Amino acid sequence: MVRRIIRDEAFLSIPSEPAQQGDGQVGQDLQDTLCANADRCVGMAANMIGVRKKIIVVNPAGGPFSLLMFNPEILRKEGPYMTEESCLSLDGVRQTLRYEMIEVSFMNASWKPQRMAFTGFAAQIIQHEIDHLSGILI
Ligand SMILES: [Zn+2]
Repeated sequence: MVRRIIRDEAFLSIPSEPAQQGDGQVGQDLQDTLCANADRCVGMAANMIGVRKKIIVVNPAGGPFSLLMFNPEILRKEGPYMTEESCLSLDGVRQTLRYEMIEVSFMNASWKPQRMAFTGFAAQIIQHEIDHLSGILI
């Protein structure tokens, strides 16, 4: 189900709780909502649809397949650089520090533990969305 995008910065600044195995529907809604906003958005965190759970979805290529991550954690990061980002929940563009390579652990949609490395744009989006889970806005 496509949900409304939250733009309340006070709400978005509260850290999210760990996701549970029963949160699959929230993940599906997150994917549906990202898909509906695919023309201007490549990733979302669950608090952006009003659910403070540690769930993100990313779609760096803008194609039909998006990657859902439950309880993602950055284990390692390399290659800091400054860049500019925008956010569906905020107006304008802001400067932020990102890392070129990150290694992330998470539970996938089948609730299987994963450990994957990401570089470039995919890594950047994941860092932005994981920041949302900590209540950090760009
Ligand atoms: Zn954002």
